[in-house]
Amino acid sequence: MRNALIPVIAAVALLIAGVFILNIQLWYSARADSLAGARYAVKNMDTILAEARHATRVAKAIADKGCGLEGQYQLATEAALQPHLRTILITRQGKIDCSSLPGNRMLLLDVATLPDDPLLLLPAKSTVNGLPVLIYQIHFAQSRVVVTMSDRHIRDALGIPLKGVTYSLRVGNSVLATAGDVTAPARERLGRVRAGDYPYSIEYRYPPLFSLTRLVEQGGGMLLFLLFIACLAAYALYKYLNKSTLPEESLRGAIAKGEIVPFYQPVVNGREGTLRGVEVLARWKHPGGGYISPASFIPIAEKSGLIVPLTRSLMAQVAKQMNDISSKLPEGFHIGINFSASHIAMPTFVEECLKYKGSFTRRDLNLVLEVTEREPLDVDERLVQTLNVLHENGFAIALDDFGTGYSGLSYLQDLHIDYIKIDQSFVSRVDEHPDSTRLLDCVLDLARRLSISIVAEGVETKAQLDYLNRNDITFQQGYYFFKPVPFIELIKILLSKPKVKVRVE
Ligand code: C2E
Ligand code: CA
Ligand code: CA
Repeated sequence: MRNALIPVIAAVALLIAGVFILNIQLWYSARADSLAGARYAVKNMDTILAEARHATRVAKAIADKGCGLEGQYQLATEAALQPHLRTILITRQGKIDCSSLPGNRMLLLDVATLPDDPLLLLPAKSTVNGLPVLIYQIHFAQSRVVVTMSDRHIRDALGIPLKGVTYSLRVGNSVLATAGDVTAPARERLGRVRAGDYPYSIEYRYPPLFSLTRLVEQGGGMLLFLLFIACLAAYALYKYLNKSTLPEESLRGAIAKGEIVPFYQPVVNGREGTLRGVEVLARWKHPGGGYISPASFIPIAEKSGLIVPLTRSLMAQVAKQMNDISSKLPEGFHIGINFSASHIAMPTFVEECLKYKGSFTRRDLNLVLEVTEREPLDVDERLVQTLNVLHENGFAIALDDFGTGYSGLSYLQDLHIDYIKIDQSFVSRVDEHPDSTRLLDCVLDLARRLSISIVAEGVETKAQLDYLNRNDITFQQGYYFFKPVPFIELIKILLSKPKVKVRVE
């Protein structure tokens, strides 16, 4: 679960970071676009005002000559030829001198009280036709030339086709936007581009720092790409986190999680069919279901030193389980556990075994320590002493896989060995052919001469059972009787007290 959560969190974080960066980039470009749009609006307005300036020059020349019919005609022509101008007006001492409109009519309601500023935005209520107007004017002597420009042309100049941005013309404290009448300036901080030649500026609202619409409309493709990258990263991270760890690490985790559990293979009296004990065999209970054979993890455990915690965990589990069914165990019941040589060599081994013995509620149990001979057993003085001390403390020592190892036989003199376990490879050779048991005969003879009890392993057939019974090998273990079973199955076996299949013919 944790391994899935981390990739999801990482993907979300990556997505958020990506969206953040994308949003900032879009914001920067929206700001740049808005500014460029404002500059373009300034250019448009300058073109209109250049016409007005030209018209004032023409009007001044007419005023200098004195306005008459010819002057009025010239003014009307100038107003008609310049595409953005509405009217041109010359006043002298506050009175109309000359106008481009027929009959010297006026567009403005009150020209006498007009402020002197060269550029003015007048609201709708100040004009005859009820539309806002922009005025450009010049003064000379006692006269002034007033040029009016239609709001429509100004709104066209402001109408830059940029989505989400609107521009306004600001002249002094008056503002004309692309719609509506002339208003007072807004209180908020606005973007502004001042014109060079004329006293006005173009204002616009800064684009918002975050905009979902902008993200979707302008960064839709990038968003999809980011989503794809985040999913890809999550998948890669998930794969990495869930990649199989080193076998040692997996095993260490399994021991800590209690996934290494004891199975029990019954040891029976081959002649009577009674249960004499069990051998504890480790199994890895995989979380996915099923059990893993020790053949695949005991070598790793031995190589990595994990065999020590593994065996300790088994000892604790075995003692607890046996205590739980202590009343069902036959007297002198054998409980054999396999120990590796490296564990026995540890200085704490004797102490551990004594603690293990002390943890059983039944005192009469026969605790067997199985030591394998399969790997070369380094039988030094220390090992002999350790096993002998344990023997003196009531443990039985069993030499496992006897005959398969490379150790010399000399240590059999010094060690107090209680059982020799004859390996399955010898037992499996027993068949109807009389020569087949020659090697096994010798091994059994050797054990007998040393007065050591024998346990036969891997008994699978009736022929093997008969041979072993004929040779008085009473302790037998093998699939012919029982396979290694989990604790719950062992309870069933103990309760059914089997006495079958084993009669000698
Ligand atoms: P082992 O101690 O010689 O254990 C006997 C093995 O023979 C077991 O295999 C058992 O399942 C198998 N066996 C028993 N009867 C028969 C039979 O009739 N036919 C056949 N074909 N096999 C039979 P398992 O459980 O796979 O264990 C393999 C080896 O792993 C053990 O051999 C032992 O050397 C090692 N092992 C298992 N558990 C432990 C442990 O807790 N500690 C240590 N150090 N070694 C362990
Ligand atoms: Ca064994
Ligand atoms: Ca064995």
